[in-house]
Amino acid sequence: MAQPEEPLKHIISHAKSYGFIFPSSEIYEGLSATYDYGPLGVELKNNLKNYWWQAMVRMHENIVGIDAAIFMHPTTWKASGHVDAFNDPLIDNKDSKKRYRADHLVEDYLQKIAQKIDKEVEKARTKFAPNFDENMFRQTNANVLKYSEQIQNIEARFKTALETDNLADIKALIEELEIVCPISGTKNWTEVRQFNLMFSTEIGSLAEGSNKIYLRPETAQGIFVNFLNVQQSARMKIPFGIAQIGKAFRNEIIARQFIFRMREFEQMEMQFFVKPGEELKWYEYWKAERIRWHKSLGIPDTHYKFHDHLKLAHYANAACDIEFKFPMGFKELEGIHSRTDFDLKAHEQHSGKKLQYFDIETNEHYVPYVVETSVGLDRLFLAVFSYALQEESLADGSTRTVLKLPKAVAPIKVAVLPLLKKDGLPEKAREILRSLQMDYACQYDEKDSVGKRYRRQDAIGTPFCITIDHQSLTDNTVTVRERDSMEQVRMPIEELKNYLHAHCART
Ligand code: ATP
Repeated sequence: MAQPEEPLKHIISHAKSYGFIFPSSEIYEGLSATYDYGPLGVELKNNLKNYWWQAMVRMHENIVGIDAAIFMHPTTWKASGHVDAFNDPLIDNKDSKKRYRADHLVEDYLQKIAQKIDKEVEKARTKFAPNFDENMFRQTNANVLKYSEQIQNIEARFKTALETDNLADIKALIEELEIVCPISGTKNWTEVRQFNLMFSTEIGSLAEGSNKIYLRPETAQGIFVNFLNVQQSARMKIPFGIAQIGKAFRNEIIARQFIFRMREFEQMEMQFFVKPGEELKWYEYWKAERIRWHKSLGIPDTHYKFHDHLKLAHYANAACDIEFKFPMGFKELEGIHSRTDFDLKAHEQHSGKKLQYFDIETNEHYVPYVVETSVGLDRLFLAVFSYALQEESLADGSTRTVLKLPKAVAPIKVAVLPLLKKDGLPEKAREILRSLQMDYACQYDEKDSVGKRYRRQDAIGTPFCITIDHQSLTDNTVTVRERDSMEQVRMPIEELKNYLHAHCART
């Protein structure tokens, strides 16, 4: 069976060869955990941004957007708690000198037990099919019960250790579970220490007296400090939301797994301001909305699950993640947090300015509660890209590499291909190209056999290829080939726009 790293390697290499993602500053051997998006990558990323922005801002009358600066007044991060508490527990292996997040070591261990349960279930399914009752099996099978109990016990102890900041007990747990370093294979661990994830730099010249500022570790605070500016200028009434897409920076202890965990990444966040006491209702609402949005991309439901947070952040009264089945297992894709009035109140205290809403119906002032949805754009990219990249065996015994991206976000929607580079076919093809270019991202390609060109378009996820042949010159018809079914239909050129409109979003 393939090792978990292998599918990821294949994804990284495909992303690089076809111009989706390059390692940053590669000619200098790269910079760890930073990546550059290439010509097709930037298109796919922009399409994902638009897909989110349209669903959140355009489709909700009560959500508006902002684009706040990356640099913020340093007190912002004192108020938000990031200066004092934006830490991860780290642990080093003394033999390999590799550094790990202690919480991740335990979570990976738990995931391995969960995989054992899945294996038992699959074994039983094969043995007892077609009368297999999965629920009954999970509730009664001795091995499954034993593994579930192990998970519960470890989770409970881990949760207490995190909540009480008991770093010694986290280390003790790692030792008791006999977790080894994946590189050295030893259990020779250091103590667990806390590590602040914010990057700092200095603003102003030395003459003015320099000042330490931070690169924002989340976009949310730009929304909170602008709460009243937005509410008053856009005349928003509670409940309402403010959405933002932008860069965030975290000095991650370990930043492996490609664009899953980067030190510079992009977030798409929305803060929804509600009346105190109504936050848990809206929390449930946004959980349902966001999972629906993810599933609208057409990836099977089995790739998503909710995970409730074991340890609530200092600002939250409910929190969960939407996890996605990445090549390295189920991992967080989006966080949904009920952040109470923590942030606005903290900014009131530190700034001395009121950040309150006046409710004309009840004639009262209050600090709203906040429900946040926060999805990493790069993680979303990896989710969509890793699911889409497929090796397919065809009926004729050959194989093809196809990137089955959701059509709405595919970087190129239509490839225009003259069958030959002569006989007036390129001219006819360019005429069609020009008629579609305004509405759809198109690519023109006349090099190599048409079969090879189809494969190239499959590999970059282009949903439709239009082929122009000699018949096109006489009867104005072309062949349209669909990426997933590989079916080809002949149609009049004048019907192309309607056809594409019915099958594919414009970009
Ligand atoms: P994790 O537990 O994986 O470190 P988190 O819980 O700290 O993530 P949040 O603070 O909730 O993440 O951030 C919201 C979203 O931002 C995450 O769901 C993820 O999609 C994205 N994100 C966070 N950190 C990174 C990172 N280092 N690289 C890429 N995306 C990230």
